[in-house]
Amino acid sequence: MINQKWIENLIWVLSTKATQPLFSIIDKLKLTIIPLRWYKDFFLIKFLGQWVGKLVYLSLIFIVTLGLTAATVKSPSVKIPIFGFHDIIDLQNKADLPPYRRLSDIDYTKQDLEKFIDYLVQKNYWFLSSQDLFIYFINKSQPIPTEHIGQKPVMLTFDDGYKGVHKNGIPILERMEKKYAEKVKFVLFVNPKSLGFDNGKDLPHLSCQDLREGYQKDFYDIQSHGFTHKKLTKLSSKELDVELYLAKLALRKCTNDLDRNKIVAAHIAYPFGAINTRVERKLPKYHLTGFVYDDNFLRVNYLKNQFRISRITVGSHTSPYKLIRLASRASTLKKISKSKKI
Ligand SMILES: [Zn+2]
Repeated sequence: MINQKWIENLIWVLSTKATQPLFSIIDKLKLTIIPLRWYKDFFLIKFLGQWVGKLVYLSLIFIVTLGLTAATVKSPSVKIPIFGFHDIIDLQNKADLPPYRRLSDIDYTKQDLEKFIDYLVQKNYWFLSSQDLFIYFINKSQPIPTEHIGQKPVMLTFDDGYKGVHKNGIPILERMEKKYAEKVKFVLFVNPKSLGFDNGKDLPHLSCQDLREGYQKDFYDIQSHGFTHKKLTKLSSKELDVELYLAKLALRKCTNDLDRNKIVAAHIAYPFGAINTRVERKLPKYHLTGFVYDDNFLRVNYLKNQFRISRITVGSHTSPYKLIRLASRASTLKKISKSKKI
């Protein structure tokens, strides 16, 4: 019951603000004891009051520490930041800037993205794919591989399949590989209807060939964002089936010979983040997990619904320093100690 972890937690409890509520409880306790001083056994009551207070105080610290130890040893609480980007623009390329291209609040610059990714690689983060997240943290069908113990997990996702992600993102990933000999993973949530779309007016989209190239270089994890980027909550039951089915079919057709384990389009991010229980009932037929936008960390231990995985929206106003601050709050993965048999 009392082990090294318990002692670590005791030190933490005593050294943080967590003790403040306990102090206020003790103060209240003292107030209830003061009127007892007017009894004739004044000295005895005062003596007992002091010791009862101390005893209650110590017991509370003991119980809090014990609870904390049980929670951290049996099921470590894992917090994962999943960032949601859209298009990537290059500030050094005129074609990516007005008047040649309109800017949007959801753009992110290649220059800031590189700063962020460089930090993550230097600090040895684990870039999760959607299937990693599912296997090790949601379904927990396999233990976390030992090479990832001590790392912090993070996931970088890109919605809508814009060409800028491929054009400006791949060079960053190649530079990181050259500099640090590390692979960075981009999770792409794509609407296959717009693959290769480029009418010169709207933002160009990446092609099936781009997807295949990124996949073969082991940079892309290709997942569904619906077939046509429709709000799933607005579709009839039949339309919903078509939207989910066609997206999966088209993405798997594009990567058929490469994706032997059928992991492409096993997961989905909802267009506009729109989801309700009616849509959710359809999802298990096509997907293993689903991603929303709610600007929260994914807290693995508190996740009740694998079709509502939290993501943090990244926009043009999100500085790389803010992203770094958020990423640094990810949990460091610890080995789960198995209970010893006596
Ligand atoms: Zn979208």
